[in-house]
Amino acid sequence: MTTPPGLFDSHAHLQHGQFDRDRDAVLTRARHAGVRRILNLATRLADAHTVVELAHHHPECLAAVGVHPGDLDDWSDATEAGLRTLAPDPRVVVWGEIGLDYYRDTFPRDLQRRVFRRQLALAREHALPVSIHCREAYDDMIADLEAENGPTIGGVAHCFGGTADHARRLLDMGFALGVGGSSTYPRSQDLRDLLRTVGVAALILETDSPYLAPQTHRGKRNEPAYVALTAEALAETLEIEFAALREACWRNTLRAFRLNADASGRA
Ligand SMILES: [Zn+2]
Ligand SMILES: [Zn+2]
Repeated sequence: MTTPPGLFDSHAHLQHGQFDRDRDAVLTRARHAGVRRILNLATRLADAHTVVELAHHHPECLAAVGVHPGDLDDWSDATEAGLRTLAPDPRVVVWGEIGLDYYRDTFPRDLQRRVFRRQLALAREHALPVSIHCREAYDDMIADLEAENGPTIGGVAHCFGGTADHARRLLDMGFALGVGGSSTYPRSQDLRDLLRTVGVAALILETDSPYLAPQTHRGKRNEPAYVALTAEALAETLEIEFAALREACWRNTLRAFRLNADASGRA
């Protein structure tokens, strides 16, 4: 079966408590906005169980398991063992959210890098692509990817915010760049110029719900339906038709996450 291309929210956190009261309504609004798939990413072991559960209850949801660089208090041998148990689930298609965050700098950088490299190795072992969170750490993040044979892992640099050189090095390793709500902010003109030079072939859409709502909803809770607003803005930036943008991003996401044609699991 092949699912016809629609909008793909490649990065959300619907397991977040902010959705506890109206999660079903949020999913309905997403469906009405043309969103066919949502990847929910864990940030620690406890919510890794939740994203897998969501993916089993809702056919449009897929799951990613991993520990976020801001949640390293959760990193332990027991956490790694728990993630190893979840990773083979057929609805788990990505290892994430993992990465380096030198902006918040919640945990020592050497610990962030050690856990990032460990999770890159785990992703490779489980044949899963990764979703990478990176803030003010692109040089180290790319160096770690290169050291861990990044091209054999693949995936996406979510909410990409690096330079043109960072973009080129990531694309050379076969990674996609995630484009979210922050690309619609007035101050993001440099990012929009960069996305125009990168071109649609390397880009995938995301929301990072409940965070980073696009400009028209800025400061409020973000939700997967709003990926349509980011898509409209990106089509305008790239000067291509909305439908062409949507289809290209859908295909790019299936390729980046190595999904089957139905986008229901691994290829
Ligand atoms: Zn992130
Ligand atoms: Zn995230």
